[in-house]
Amino acid sequence: MIAHTQTLFGAVALVAVIMGSCLILVGQLRHRDGMLTTGLGMLSHSLAYIGFTLFGQVSMWITYVLANVLLSTALSFYTVSLPLIHARRPPWRLAFAFPLLLGVLLSLLIDTQEPRQLVACVLLFTQCLVILHLSRLHAVAGGRAHRVLMIGAGISLFGLGIRVVVILSGAPTEMHYDVSNLKQTVSVAIGAATIIMLSFGLVLLSRERIESELRQTALRDTLTGIPNRLAILEQLADELERARRQRIPLSIAMLDLDHFKQINDSYGHLIGDAVLMHCADHLQQRLRRNDSIGRYGGEEFLLILPGTDASGALELVDQLRQSLTQHPAQGEGHVIALSFSAGVHGLTPAEHDDVTSMLLKADKALYAAKHAGRNTQMLAATS
Ligand code: GH3
Ligand code: MG
Ligand code: MG
Repeated sequence: MIAHTQTLFGAVALVAVIMGSCLILVGQLRHRDGMLTTGLGMLSHSLAYIGFTLFGQVSMWITYVLANVLLSTALSFYTVSLPLIHARRPPWRLAFAFPLLLGVLLSLLIDTQEPRQLVACVLLFTQCLVILHLSRLHAVAGGRAHRVLMIGAGISLFGLGIRVVVILSGAPTEMHYDVSNLKQTVSVAIGAATIIMLSFGLVLLSRERIESELRQTALRDTLTGIPNRLAILEQLADELERARRQRIPLSIAMLDLDHFKQINDSYGHLIGDAVLMHCADHLQQRLRRNDSIGRYGGEEFLLILPGTDASGALELVDQLRQSLTQHPAQGEGHVIALSFSAGVHGLTPAEHDDVTSMLLKADKALYAAKHAGRNTQMLAATS
């Protein structure tokens, strides 16, 4: 099907102007989510297409030079949106050097045909390559929006490739914006796909980034910075599943600081907080690479020790306890002696073992350690 090229340009411009305006409207409130620049990119893209619809009717300076510079500006805006979405400093100068260079070169080549067309294609091609590269670089872990962006940039590269082949094959007039043929229909359709996929991809990327940020915040303990109860329990469920699948041992330890209430009562809550931070920091630094620690409750920490059996876990917890007693907390000129009691539970998980039963056993062992006079660790009964 061959569509009337300039009508097609006009239709795409209309859609882009509406979508771009919506993004600018929401983007104004939060400049650092990349939506404003994405919207400006779409607006620039639509203005370029409006310029193409006037090809042959008004000056080439508007319909060729300015329109292509606007198209290049659109790609520059998409380029800077990628780091902006990640709250990083975008390469403003590099990104906007392309439309500037294109403007200069097209002005010099305005009276030529193939050279000016090839220069436009090559510069726009390079910009799409940059977008492709940055999309990969700025992918959100576990996200998929970057794929939409990469496909969008890839499609654009393909479209520009077609134009170059047609120009080099000696038929540059076939790529004039006022000519309607199958190649032009495909080329404009590719342009439309580029606008939609790049803008949609950027919006999705922004959403993915916010979601990942919220998830990070929801899983961190705000005081100590280590995983919170929700996070450490999620991790325990995963490790239990893995240990069951691989038939390897798994141990946990429930740690509770001794007489912590007295620390608060004697030195105040702020120093109490600092002591909790010191403990979390000290313990985390002494754990092995595969082990994890989370804040289970007020002054309680949960350790997950994958691949460690009960006796190994007991030994490790003993070392941690001794290390903490040797490294008291400091606050406002006070040296605050610390110790903890711990309940340790290790097993090679069977079908019926679950997180709750493991926690119950570790908690019982912790209670026994407290009962035995504190500053010690106890192993949970195996049955
Ligand atoms: P035990 O040796 O039996 O464990 O005694 P304990 O004093 O450590 O235990 P208890 O459960 O009586 O008191 C725990 C205290 O921890 C009470 C609570 O105010 C304090 N706490 C819990 N969360 C925080 C916190 O985020 N910051 C501060 N400063 N204190 C906290
Ligand atoms: Mg407690
Ligand atoms: Mg306590």
